[in-house]
Amino acid sequence: MMKQSNIKEIARQRITILFEQAKKLAKNNPKLATQYIRSARRIAMAANIRFPLEFRRETCRKCNSLFVHGVNCRVRVKQKREPHVVVTCLNCGEQTRYMLKKKGAKKLAQDNN
Ligand SMILES: [Zn+2]
Repeated sequence: MMKQSNIKEIARQRITILFEQAKKLAKNNPKLATQYIRSARRIAMAANIRFPLEFRRETCRKCNSLFVHGVNCRVRVKQKREPHVVVTCLNCGEQTRYMLKKKGAKKLAQDNN
C-alpha cells in the first residue's frame, strides 16, 4: 500500500510530464494537447491535489485548451486598482483573471507587445 504523499507526488510528476508533452504539441496538434491537459486535470482530481497554479494560468478551465500566446488566447494587463491579467480563450471565449505583482504584470505586457 502506497502512502498518500507518494500518490500525490507521482500525480504531480505525471501532470508535469503531460504539460511538457502538451506544450510540444500545442502548435501542430492542439487537439491532442487539449486531451493531455484534460488527462492532467483528471489526475489532479483523482489524487485530490490542486492543479498547479502555473498550469492553471496556461490553460482554459472550460475547454482545456493550452494557451499559446498570439494563437489561441488574448492577454490583457489591466492596471486599474490592483494590476491583474485577463486571459481570453479564443477557442471558447472563457475569460480567466488573476492578480499579478507589478513586476510580473510588466513582464507579461512586454511579452505580448
Ligand atoms: Zn476555452
